[in-house]
Amino acid sequence: MTLSSPGKALWPDDGAGLAVTKLDLARYYEAVGDWMMPHIAGRPCSIVRTPDGIDGERFFQRHIGKGRPPLLDAVAVAGDDAPYLRIDRKEALAVLAQIGATELHPWNCRPNAPEVPGRLVFDLDPDEGLAFEAVVVAAREVRDRLEALGLVAFCKTTGGKGLHVVSPLETAELGWPMAKAFAREVCARMAADSPDRHVINMSRKRRKGRIFLDYLRNDRMSTAVAPLSPRARPGATVSMPLDWTQVRAGLDPKRFTIRTAPALAARMTAWSDYADGERSLPEAIRRLGS
Ligand code: ATP
Ligand code: MN
Repeated sequence: MTLSSPGKALWPDDGAGLAVTKLDLARYYEAVGDWMMPHIAGRPCSIVRTPDGIDGERFFQRHIGKGRPPLLDAVAVAGDDAPYLRIDRKEALAVLAQIGATELHPWNCRPNAPEVPGRLVFDLDPDEGLAFEAVVVAAREVRDRLEALGLVAFCKTTGGKGLHVVSPLETAELGWPMAKAFAREVCARMAADSPDRHVINMSRKRRKGRIFLDYLRNDRMSTAVAPLSPRARPGATVSMPLDWTQVRAGLDPKRFTIRTAPALAARMTAWSDYADGERSLPEAIRRLGS
């Protein structure tokens, strides 16, 4: 794969005053690709492209498109004539760097089964001005609630303002409407128990000083940023997988960047038991009660 303009700055500042170039992005994907692939492969995957850097024009791309860059795969999606983009091999990440893909957003389906829920994602969005510690507390509460229902929970920074709690699912005869209803109910109970801290209502006004528990990632075509995906945001942050011991006061998501993540990822234990974390959604629904 030949990179054109490898020295072009995609992020003006890596958090330490240095630009992050296209070549840096390619090297980053090379470094973390093996870790990332199981979370992306086999699923439709949208990309955020910022070919002129994160302060330039940005495209959220779902389809593979006519140009069909090499090494990227196409996947048919029911209800859409145009094939979606799929990233099935690590080498494709070099192509993504070449086309300025600075964020990866896969579906939450099972690999090679676009209609089957493969994981739940709870997206915790703090209102501006809330201390990050409040999100930490909320993420731990989501974990506790999921564990009480027999599920296993994993946490990652988003590379932005909040945290994601992810729960892998066993294959079941249940589709996204049930999975989404379940996620909504878990969030609704959490909001009802602490209405001063949490909301599940989209309205900006209701969110004042609270954390929005966004259960809407849990739908057929909804996406969430992939673990270790970079973000097209200031500081070249990435979505960093965490051990629950790291999800505590003092956690600073800005520390995890394209520069710092490769060394951390190479020796991290976070999410190492992800593949063994799949649990039964029907059982969780039974335990939750109607
Ligand atoms: P933060 O912690 O800052 O909220 P986030 O990743 O949760 O980070 P967003 O970047 O606002 O938040 O994205 C919310 C969700 O919507 C993401 O999971 C992403 O997959 C999806 N998304 C992002 N941009 C678009 C877009 N342009 N069109 C459709 N979906 C998008
Ligand atoms: Mn969010």
